[in-house]
Amino acid sequence: MRLLIAAALLCGLIVQSARAQVPASGQKNTANNPSWTGLQKPFRIPASERKNIANHPSWTAPQKPFRIYGNTWYVGPRGLGVFLVTARTGNVLIDGGVPGYAPLIEANIRDLGINLHDIKWILNSHAHSDHAGGMARLAHDTGAQVIANAADTPLLERGGHDDPEYGDGFPYPPVHVARTMTDGEILHLGDLVLTAHSTPGHTKGNTTWTWTSCEDQRCLQMVDVGSLSAPDYKLIGNPKYSAIVTDYEHSFALVAALPCDIPLAPHPEMVDFWERVTKRRQGDADALIDPAGCRAYAKDARASFEAQLTKQAAEATSVK
Ligand SMILES: [Zn+2]
Repeated sequence: MRLLIAAALLCGLIVQSARAQVPASGQKNTANNPSWTGLQKPFRIPASERKNIANHPSWTAPQKPFRIYGNTWYVGPRGLGVFLVTARTGNVLIDGGVPGYAPLIEANIRDLGINLHDIKWILNSHAHSDHAGGMARLAHDTGAQVIANAADTPLLERGGHDDPEYGDGFPYPPVHVARTMTDGEILHLGDLVLTAHSTPGHTKGNTTWTWTSCEDQRCLQMVDVGSLSAPDYKLIGNPKYSAIVTDYEHSFALVAALPCDIPLAPHPEMVDFWERVTKRRQGDADALIDPAGCRAYAKDARASFEAQLTKQAAEATSVK
């Protein structure tokens, strides 16, 4: 059965790569929807991105949606954190998964009994294809407006092209950003209040989102921690990102200092999310609460980063 589902999804991906992201005739007129601008041109998922997706099966593995806490819900595939925050006045979606798989996220949202058109805003953690790849499609299908960090907006609007680290390796349908925000900006979206913390490095506009979710009288600080990894990044003498090292240092300190009751992440394993979900299912009602989780992630990421930086500095010296 799993194989069949995987095959069906893969077929969907291939078909989509040929006709990708173009509305079928009879679909609603999108001319008035500014979010549609990114989907006007057919998008063909390139071989490099198809390989990237195939190499990470969890990014497209189905996951039943569920309540994380209060008005915060998990609606992503198993391996990519996509979060829905609900309110009377409209819902917020954070991230959109890989290109071609927005329908999986949409099905999860519908499974919760939520109408796609009640999503009013889509936020982004960072402008890489595994988190922004489905955003144009989701914006189109929901009618939501995209709000993103000003420093990642050009990359989103280029559809991932000319990434400082990946070049044109992992493009996705360009995302039209309706509103930009900067570090520390507080978004009041209907009844919801979310804060954007710039945590640059992984991308220039990498963002950690925080908000509060309540159950009865207990309100907890939710943190969707921005990625702090630097996978094979050029940290020294990077002409496209000269401030990369100081940006990472800033972000490690910021994440470590955040009030953090329930750590979430674009990649759930960053904060041992599934282990904590399993513990909760086994009866530990508060297993998702981990006030040290953000600090622990920042500490581990900083240690890896510093090892990588030391190695690259030694290589740079030996070349001279
Ligand atoms: Zn990334």
